[in-house]
Amino acid sequence: MNPFEHLDWPFFNAQHGEFARALDAWAAANVADHHGSDVDAECRALVRALGQGGWLAPAVAGREYGGAADAIETRSICLARETLARHNGLADFAFAMQGLGSGAISLAGTPQQKAAYLPRVVRGEAIAAFALSEPQAGSDVAAMQCAARVEGDHAILDGEKTWISNGGIADFYVVFARTGEAPGARGISAFIVDADTPGLEIAERIDVIAPHPLARLKFTNCRIPLSQRIGAGGEGFKIAMRTLDVFRTSVAAAALGFARRALHEALGRATSRKMFGGVLADFQLTQASLARMATTVESSALLTYRAAWLRDQGRTVTREAAMAKLEATEGAQRVIDAAVQVFGGLGVVSEQPVERLYREIRALRIYEGATEVQQLIIGRELLKGWNA
Ligand SMILES: Cc1cc2nc3c(=O)[nH]c(=O)nc-3n(C[C@H](O)[C@H](O)[C@H](O)COP(=O)(O)OP(=O)(O)OC[C@H]3O[C@@H](n4cnc5c(N)ncnc54)[C@H](O)[C@@H]3O)c2cc1C
Repeated sequence: MNPFEHLDWPFFNAQHGEFARALDAWAAANVADHHGSDVDAECRALVRALGQGGWLAPAVAGREYGGAADAIETRSICLARETLARHNGLADFAFAMQGLGSGAISLAGTPQQKAAYLPRVVRGEAIAAFALSEPQAGSDVAAMQCAARVEGDHAILDGEKTWISNGGIADFYVVFARTGEAPGARGISAFIVDADTPGLEIAERIDVIAPHPLARLKFTNCRIPLSQRIGAGGEGFKIAMRTLDVFRTSVAAAALGFARRALHEALGRATSRKMFGGVLADFQLTQASLARMATTVESSALLTYRAAWLRDQGRTVTREAAMAKLEATEGAQRVIDAAVQVFGGLGVVSEQPVERLYREIRALRIYEGATEVQQLIIGRELLKGWNA
């Protein structure tokens, strides 16, 4: 299957096509084989390589800070994630986290904050992280307990964050904490916390099925100058949701990249595996499985790039982004599972491409809004518009 076929769709212009093809060629030459046992070192190297290659520019906003454009363009982020995920899940992770981790600064930072962080993020010289989740506040973000009390021109952070991607290797964390301007979601603020700030410690490194840097953070009397607050006090929840709104569709794109790779691998194996006097692909049952996989890939691509295109037109994409994430992540899990089946025993051998994909896809159905959360969003949007 041609991984560039969709670049002719009306969602894209000529620059998108050039960008995706150039990144594909670069990834094939530079990151395809980055799968070492030291995941921290791999990740640092990937961020640096992406930065030096100029590929992180779409992940931040503001040309004067090294961004590709003055506002983040969803289609470019999605094309980058789809392409990188097809080659290497950790490269996609490295790209995505530079964007998600600095997204709040791109969207709502002061010119000083942008100048201090974004150019280093784009060059791959500073690793970014986004610290929202807590042990008791995952899907229910507004239940967060990590608190920041203002004393003079500082905020003092106390509490915990968990599941923080890049935790342990990040140079800075965008941390959301309860500041109490109002009850619930309206009493949360966002702060940029440099990794070497006294009072911030990496309390635990967390190993997951598709290894990447992940940690629980602990804040004890951690003093942050108020000049490091992003936006006004009490605006943190809104800033977090705006950031996730930009990046949610890109999770669908990463899942699409994983699914495309799985289909590619399955086609290769089915047409070369000799059995019963022919090859596996001769059998109609295999063809049916491949057909289902290909149709899922195409429908995920349509939903993903429809949401990305609509967002780039300035439209609200609450329903469309939720549909894209739901369908692309759940669909990719099915496609990858079918690819493992095509490979037989070889499909479950450690570090085979389809075995890696099988582990890599799983968390995408949970983070940035689990599948059930996306279903609830879509249901709510449908009912909102129902006035029979
Ligand atoms: C690999 C990985 C990386 C992550 N990186 C980051 C990061 O960088 N920064 C960050 O802040 N967070 C990060 N997270 C956290 C992630 O966003 C949370 O795991 C996610 O929001 C779910 O929260 P939870 O794990 O506490 O699950 P819970 O909130 O306990 O939910 C458990 C399950 O309940 C179900 N569920 C949830 N809501 C409903 C509902 N309303 N109705 C029915 N069922 C429901 C879903 O199936 C969900 O999976 C990461 C998580 C993972 C796994």
